[in-house]
Amino acid sequence: MNSNRMSAASALMLAAALTLSACSGGAAPGTEPSPSAPASVSPPASAGGDESLASPSPSQSPSPSVSPSPSSSPSAKPSDKPSEKPSEKPPASPAGAKGGSKFYEAIEVTANAAMATALVNKQFRLPEGYVPQDLVYPDIPFTFSDKIDKRKLRKEAAEALEQLVDGAAKDGIKLAGVSGYRSESRQKTLYESYVKKDGVQAADKYSARPGHSEHQTGLAIDVSGIDGKCAAESCFGGTPEAEWLAKYATDYGFIIRYPEGKEDITGYKYEPWHIRYVGADLAAKLAESGDTLEEHYGGAVPVSGSK
Ligand SMILES: [Zn+2]
Repeated sequence: MNSNRMSAASALMLAAALTLSACSGGAAPGTEPSPSAPASVSPPASAGGDESLASPSPSQSPSPSVSPSPSSSPSAKPSDKPSEKPSEKPPASPAGAKGGSKFYEAIEVTANAAMATALVNKQFRLPEGYVPQDLVYPDIPFTFSDKIDKRKLRKEAAEALEQLVDGAAKDGIKLAGVSGYRSESRQKTLYESYVKKDGVQAADKYSARPGHSEHQTGLAIDVSGIDGKCAAESCFGGTPEAEWLAKYATDYGFIIRYPEGKEDITGYKYEPWHIRYVGADLAAKLAESGDTLEEHYGGAVPVSGSK
């Protein structure tokens, strides 16, 4: 775990540098490329998601409940059936919480990339060049008007999102999409630009490596209030929109993927704006248990062989 950690000094510097941005790779200040200028370096604040500020708080000590067991293989039984539905409950002991020691180490390919229940994180990546086959444009407001990739989601998630946004509106909460689908090549461009600028260690704290972003699944989207204020930024936390999501997203099959206090497990800081479609069944289970996806699968994550 220690090898993944920055020195406290650099963590502090990074935290300071990144304070204004989130879920966005906002670490690259200033230049905001238009969607039609992919050569540009820095994404808009809404580029979102897994290029979030994942830096652990320097003062935060590892949770005592997190006891990674380095000797246990996360993939005792590699599966070659990528379409196989993962077991609902990990048969292994609920060790879970091993992510902290596994960020970008012993990387494996998640076996169920096309399932709503897929686990994609800093340990389990999507198959090389994975592109969801059923991307659509959800009929909800966005914080931008262009019909571009990040407006897309997979069909099932898009339909659930439309219902979620409708449900919120009935409660007087007006939500808007900020950033949905992101291709592996787009993620690669972003990540590499960050590495060039800040170095690998720093870049890993706020940007997902290509193949490791939930946004590439087409099942995750960053949302904000309709005014786009605090879009993918820490100040979204505590807003009526964030509170509504925390309370009701589950009812529509979504989870707050990177909850508060689980940074060492998910590898990302609290992102109240990043919601991930997992389907109604799993969302209900996670709501009841309070588990993250990592904890839910524990050591029983299905994989399709190492990378
Ligand atoms: Zn996100």
